[in-house]
Amino acid sequence: MLLSDFYYGQHKGDGLPEQKTHTTFKCLSCLKDLKNVKFMNHVKHHLELEKQKSDSWENHTTCQHCHRQFPTPFQLQCHMDSVHTAQEPSPVCKICELSFETDQVLLQHMKDNHKPGEMPYVCQICHYRSSAFVDVDTHFRTCHADTKTLLCPFCLKIFKTAPRYVNHFWSHWSKRVFRCPKCRLQFLTSKEEVEHKTKNNQTFKKPEQIQGLPPGTQIIIRTSTQPR
Ligand SMILES: [Zn+2]
Ligand SMILES: [Zn+2]
Ligand SMILES: [Zn+2]
Ligand SMILES: [Zn+2]
Ligand SMILES: [Zn+2]
Ligand SMILES: [Zn+2]
Repeated sequence: MLLSDFYYGQHKGDGLPEQKTHTTFKCLSCLKDLKNVKFMNHVKHHLELEKQKSDSWENHTTCQHCHRQFPTPFQLQCHMDSVHTAQEPSPVCKICELSFETDQVLLQHMKDNHKPGEMPYVCQICHYRSSAFVDVDTHFRTCHADTKTLLCPFCLKIFKTAPRYVNHFWSHWSKRVFRCPKCRLQFLTSKEEVEHKTKNNQTFKKPEQIQGLPPGTQIIIRTSTQPR
């Protein structure tokens, strides 16, 4: 069986379309009124500008794409090259967005860290979930655009008012955060982190191919369809 079929999956959720509204959110720094998805982008933009100004060590060691922090700027560069910009991407774990030198190392990482059908990224509005963060992000931006809700890109928490959202968003940067060791999410309290890890970094739905197999059946996992 293929590694991706074994470990990754998506779950549709309630599928009820949320009511579209004309709700806008006001940015208190520049007094712009924006709809939810635009407002989320806008707040992120403010944060990035602020980070650039501060020019801290953290700034040079945090990945702009997945907010992961690395011990040195060099390691950040390697991560960016292999995960976010590579022409010929190296093997990447879709769940934690880390890259590995070879397929074998990736497979070992999967065995050590992940469960089959693990989908840690959950939309808290409709319970759509996936193994990949970007799926939930895209899902929110399409299914929940023009609604009364705002999504935190760090911990996937939902907010309904601009001040609380902005306050929370900035806390991810200014306060100590608790990072889930098994995916890219980070939380403001250890309680949330533990709750998330025990609830979400687990098998959510067994891959169809192994449903109904007697326990103890050996499954061979291949990392790709073509031999290298
Ligand atoms: Zn603004
Ligand atoms: Zn990254
Ligand atoms: Zn992983
Ligand atoms: Zn949803
Ligand atoms: Zn958050
Ligand atoms: Zn997690």
